[in-house]
Amino acid sequence: MKLPFDNTYARLPDRFHARVAPARVRAPRVVKVNRALAEVLGLDAEQLASAEGAEVLAGNALAEGAEPIALAYAGHQFGSFVSQLGDGRAILLGEVVGRDGKRRDLQLKGAGRTPFSRGGDGRAALGPVLREYVVSEAMAALGVPTTRALAAVTTGEPVYREEVLPGAVLTRVAASHIRVGTFQFFAARDDREALATLASYALSRHYPEAMGSGNDALALLERVVDAQASLVARWLGVGFVHGVMNTDNTSISGETIDYGPCAFLDEYDPAKKFSSIDRGGRYAFGNQPRIAQWNMARLAEALLPLLAEGEEEAVRLATERVERFSALFVAAHARVLRAKLGFAREEEGDLALAADLLERLASNGVDYTVFFRRLCASAADPAADAQVAALFAEPGAFRDWAESWRRRLAREQITPEARASAMRLVNPAFIPRNHRIEALIQAAVLRDDFEPFETLVRVLERPYDDQPENAHLSEPPQLDERVQYTFCG
Ligand code: AMP
Ligand code: MG
Ligand code: MG
Repeated sequence: MKLPFDNTYARLPDRFHARVAPARVRAPRVVKVNRALAEVLGLDAEQLASAEGAEVLAGNALAEGAEPIALAYAGHQFGSFVSQLGDGRAILLGEVVGRDGKRRDLQLKGAGRTPFSRGGDGRAALGPVLREYVVSEAMAALGVPTTRALAAVTTGEPVYREEVLPGAVLTRVAASHIRVGTFQFFAARDDREALATLASYALSRHYPEAMGSGNDALALLERVVDAQASLVARWLGVGFVHGVMNTDNTSISGETIDYGPCAFLDEYDPAKKFSSIDRGGRYAFGNQPRIAQWNMARLAEALLPLLAEGEEEAVRLATERVERFSALFVAAHARVLRAKLGFAREEEGDLALAADLLERLASNGVDYTVFFRRLCASAADPAADAQVAALFAEPGAFRDWAESWRRRLAREQITPEARASAMRLVNPAFIPRNHRIEALIQAAVLRDDFEPFETLVRVLERPYDDQPENAHLSEPPQLDERVQYTFCG
């Protein structure tokens, strides 16, 4: 099989990567090919779904033009620096330029050991592969920048975790796999030349419009700070908890990357964390902006030798750009919240009104997604308020707030119906709820039944449409369905 590869990262110096072929597996079987994405990439979905495609997607056969490499990177994991991480179970096959003119990486995740595997087996289990498929595709449909899932295959081989699980490989598609940790890898080695090469490469690949300032590293830092501020604002808008915001899981392109123990909020709670390994709540929902800024400080540190001739000036520039994150985030978050509340205009009191609402949601145990979806109806017709108030432990908490909200809405220009329609484009009816993901993983792993997976993927392709026939998939978990913890793959 030939794929239209056009590789650039493999052309970078040897110390950027290790050349390594995917491992062979026993019995590849295609679980899913993402036809819409294949189309955008200019790939033949039929071919990918064929027996020949299964061999390529499992890593048994290399498509013509592939130059498989594992990327070197370092990273701060839960605040502690590890100078060598790297792709321990992911292998970049190469890059393709899609029909939309965008360059993207095609990577096999779970494709076997690499020189960066340390003690790991290089494998992925089916459950986490299905979770990443569902959640990353849902994020894309929700309009949040993210890596994508092109395909999932099972390997016919066991993977040994706490239990024996079916093995699988995900084909991940990303604007690139350059992370904050990629810069940290070279900074930790005092490799100024590699840092400069990487900064210019990343800038021209992701932010070409910012080239030519004479200071690529500074331009890159500015762009990444902006992209991360707006990304995290989007996460907060849909109730997403990344779970492991380590610097090696923070993409330079501004895409959400590395879906491990990620989860969506059911009831609104800024302190909510799901990851079993996040004991202190470092990566809790409401902490994400602060952590993203901390990660930007680590990027700035890594870029320091390139920012200016003198160290003092470099530190000044770095500090100033990292501090800008706060204002950029507040502005991006305000845009998200205004849209969710149905405000097209900007008024000074908007953020206070939103903050007041969020506090009421938290203290009343209100489901974040259901609340905002029902609020769309209320925005057109106050008769729908009863349905919203019923979500609150203390319904008066909504009614009080709704009085201020309506006074504010009265100062908007558009008709109530147009407002409700606009709100339905930003307040989803469907999110990938944790209990639904657990259920589809159980069905696939225990019963080889992929129907729940297929159904959820299909529904989440249109998260902003009411789909009455699938209304049950929009509902919060019953008490006995609640997922307390999520685990890494
Ligand atoms: P993650 O927690 O997925 O962000 O991964 C952190 C580091 O551990 C990265 O360097 C991964 O490549 C590596 N890693 C995670 N799982 C495995 C595995 N099963 N085998 C080898 N390396 C792994
Ligand atoms: Mg990672
Ligand atoms: Mg990972």
